[in-house]
Amino acid sequence: MSNYIVTGCAGFIGSYVTKLLLEQGHRVVGIDNLNSAYDIRLKEWRLKQLDVKESFRFVRSDIRVRSAIKDVFDIAGNGCDGVIHLAAYAGVRYSVENPWIYYETNVTGTLNLLDACVKNGVKKIVFASSSSVYGNNVSGAFSESINTDRVLSPYAASKKAAEELCFSYKHLHGIDFTILRFFTVYGPAGRPDMSPLRFVRWIYEGVPLTLYGNGTQRRDFTYVDDVARGVCASLKPLGYEIINLGNNKPIEIIEFIKTIEGLIGKKAVVHKKEAHSADVSATWADISKARDVLKWLPKYDIRKGLGLLVDWYEENRSLAKTIEL
Ligand code: NAD
Repeated sequence: MSNYIVTGCAGFIGSYVTKLLLEQGHRVVGIDNLNSAYDIRLKEWRLKQLDVKESFRFVRSDIRVRSAIKDVFDIAGNGCDGVIHLAAYAGVRYSVENPWIYYETNVTGTLNLLDACVKNGVKKIVFASSSSVYGNNVSGAFSESINTDRVLSPYAASKKAAEELCFSYKHLHGIDFTILRFFTVYGPAGRPDMSPLRFVRWIYEGVPLTLYGNGTQRRDFTYVDDVARGVCASLKPLGYEIINLGNNKPIEIIEFIKTIEGLIGKKAVVHKKEAHSADVSATWADISKARDVLKWLPKYDIRKGLGLLVDWYEENRSLAKTIEL
């Protein structure tokens, strides 16, 4: 049994990672500031699923505040075997409106955490980066060795900056890092600022569906349980490795919508809007490194994963249909 700190534990991916670690018999101190980036009731709902375990402790804390992180490590005690750093301001589009909050959280917040990890002798950190660092200049599947110097949004820039900070901390302090680049993660209780939950709700409730662009943009949607499994697998010592966690099966958004229509048995009323300039036209993960290094492959195809999201929506409809979008 090991002791882990998970930042962003009330977030979408953080709640699944925490749940899996607890199921594997580990102890977790989870931190989150429960910010209002989106409806806080969804974060509270996720926390409620976790709080049943005695081996879980939640600390409401802000990684932008150095003294607050110190308190978290004091609570975790000396035996922290690794930190899984998922807390962030996520999402591409809002980063264009308010890039400062992204830098304060994703760069300064990460720096504060790395500093605390050095002071507390943490040997392993898993950091959540993003497929958005690949920008638009890639054809075919994105391999980790591709140049990532031309990002298209302040969000992607903040993730790229944090990746580089991690590398410098590996160089200076010998901390072992796994940098994971996630690809459009979806599943039950997912983020309301992302298309999967929005599309399910709009189609289910018969409300017009807003589609940015013409629907031919492709996304490598990856199911959240697969991602959580990959995160846990990446806790082993690796030195410093950047690894994609994607599905390796990109689909056009229009196909994604059709799949949801089929599952719900209703047609979407699509309202098209101009494509957003910070959005990339396609994402596609080369996952051969994850397969070779982590022995990880995704298990959920899009139909199965979306089916579970639709089931969750139905079971939690009174909350899900009132979540602020
Ligand atoms: P999320 O917004 O649901 O979770 C992030 C959590 O971090 C939230 O609960 C938020 O309250 C918390 N947080 C934000 N600022 C904080 C701060 N200053 N102090 C403490 N907690 C703070 O997002 P998610 O989709 O679960 O993403 C998790 C990580 O994965 C993020 O780093 C994100 O950038 C990355 N990522 C996600 C996706 C995806 O498709 N969901 C894709 C690529 C990368």
